Amino acid sequence: MEEKGLLIILSGPSGVGKGTVRQELMKDPSLNLYYSVSMTTRKQRPGEVEGREYYFVDEDTFRQNVKSGNLLEYAKFVGNYYGTPRDKVEQKRKEGKNVLLEIEVSGTLQVLGKLRDDPGVVSIFLVPPSLQDLECRIRGRKTECEEMIAERLEKARGELCCGHYYQHQVINDDLHRTVEEIASIIKARL
Ligand code: ADP
Ligand code: 5GP
Repeated sequence: MEEKGLLIILSGPSGVGKGTVRQELMKDPSLNLYYSVSMTTRKQRPGEVEGREYYFVDEDTFRQNVKSGNLLEYAKFVGNYYGTPRDKVEQKRKEGKNVLLEIEVSGTLQVLGKLRDDPGVVSIFLVPPSLQDLECRIRGRKTECEEMIAERLEKARGELCCGHYYQHQVINDDLHRTVEEIASIIKARL
């Protein structure tokens, strides 16, 4: 059966502002969004709620889900696994919801490969104004230790070369402007 809702991939390096932009987009009812909560083996950060930011699982449980084919895509990102539960994405799209995935680059490439004939896929890569801004944002969030900040920045250097895989690249300079630009990209596909 053909999916009715869009599958919107919001991607970009850690700290670029994906979560912040997503929260703003979710406030706009005309976009009719459903946020797909991922599964991860990463440790829960203070303030994160099980089932809201992520489903927090151990590595065995994650592997079981991979083995059972429950994940649309998954990736290892600086030491932890992250994946998108498949059923909910399909169910919500069938219900007509526009499903939003907030995922990193290698997971995006898996989805773009698997769903290459699906006209409902919208891929957006969020770009920081500069690497210096990216570093300030990761530090400003105060969620990572020095070692993790260094690893995530190193990873970001590679990811920033992958923007051309996406249909749209959006510079997250001014938050309000960025949200408007992404909302128009989505509205143009509704
Ligand atoms: P990501 O989800 O991509 O890892 P976050 O949404 O957690 O990134 O944002 C990282 C930090 O950058 C947060 O402290 C957030 O408030 C800040 N931020 C996000 N967008 C902007 C922006 N356009 N200008 C300045 N700071 C921003
Ligand atoms: P964080 O630890 O900062 O929450 O996330 C680290 C990175 O993993 C971010 O780039 C985030 O978008 C990405 N991510 C979150 N969920 C998923 C997922 O289900 N699949 C993939 N491939 N990446 C994800």
